Amino acid sequence: MSSGSPWIMRRLQSVYSAASCWSGLAVRNRIEIDADEQDRIDWIRAIPYILLHVACLGVIWTGFSWVAFGVAFGLYLLRIFTITGFYHRYFSHRTFKTSRWFQFVMAFIGTTSAQRGPLWWAAHHRHHHNESDTEHDLHSPRQRGFLKSHCGWFLTHRGFHTPSQYTRDWNRFPELLWLDRFCLIPPIVLGLAMFGLGALLEAFAPGLGTGPWQMLVWGFCISTVFTYHVTYTINSLAHQYGKQRFDTGDDSRNNFLLAILTLGEGWHNNHHHYPATVRQGFYWYEIDLTWYTLLGMRSCGLIWDMKKIPEHVLERGRRPASTTEHSGKS
Ligand SMILES: [Zn+2]
Ligand SMILES: [Zn+2]
Repeated sequence: MSSGSPWIMRRLQSVYSAASCWSGLAVRNRIEIDADEQDRIDWIRAIPYILLHVACLGVIWTGFSWVAFGVAFGLYLLRIFTITGFYHRYFSHRTFKTSRWFQFVMAFIGTTSAQRGPLWWAAHHRHHHNESDTEHDLHSPRQRGFLKSHCGWFLTHRGFHTPSQYTRDWNRFPELLWLDRFCLIPPIVLGLAMFGLGALLEAFAPGLGTGPWQMLVWGFCISTVFTYHVTYTINSLAHQYGKQRFDTGDDSRNNFLLAILTLGEGWHNNHHHYPATVRQGFYWYEIDLTWYTLLGMRSCGLIWDMKKIPEHVLERGRRPASTTEHSGKS
């Protein structure tokens, strides 16, 4: 922007720079900092993440209501589904197809989870599959310990960077690039919507006992933080605790409890063995709520071409000899 630009344009440019400073793509040049520094936490850029946790303490002042709790729980279910069904099974693994408009709608909802944009997420996840539990895996508990694998890795300089060479298939969609660059916008929209909803309910349904601040704390802050930590368990706990049906050469595990909490992602050893299928629960008794929901979407015509599990993979998994019990780090 030249110094001769109108004042308003210069102001818009500085707002743009400030906003994009927090986004995944804007820091691609910062990967040039030295290797030791790359694995340290970037505390300045971690501030919104930390503040969101602190904001949950607002519940001390705003209190509880069933309607605020219900909205928080509903938004947790919606967003954890969008993370598993779309950020993971669609954008990272392309295990089904959908239309461009529905792809954007689900990407936008996913981005309200404040787990950055779909391309940042998919790029890092594809890297994880390539390097599972090797020294290059950014969130391997074996390599980096529990805390770093759970919630430290994405706050490092390297974690903020988007390895966009892993998402060349998606980089041609400008609307997805926009979401990644301005990934703070959808969470802010959701936060404002929660505040507005609380104000409306306070005015028109005072018997529900809620208000704008309470709805903001429950519907956005608590719900988002809960969605965070449930998602992160797949990187941390599902690489340490559970059964290993398949010898995948990494530490991935199948864990029933995590499968319930994450709507199906807990069948993580299955997934590492055969990530090209839309299903993560391979057998009828492995509950996979995301898969059931995706089946419902398919019956409505919203998605199609869901990739199945090959019979030889199912057969291999049935052999008792391939099942080994693990209860900790290998
Ligand atoms: Zn994994
Ligand atoms: Zn995966």
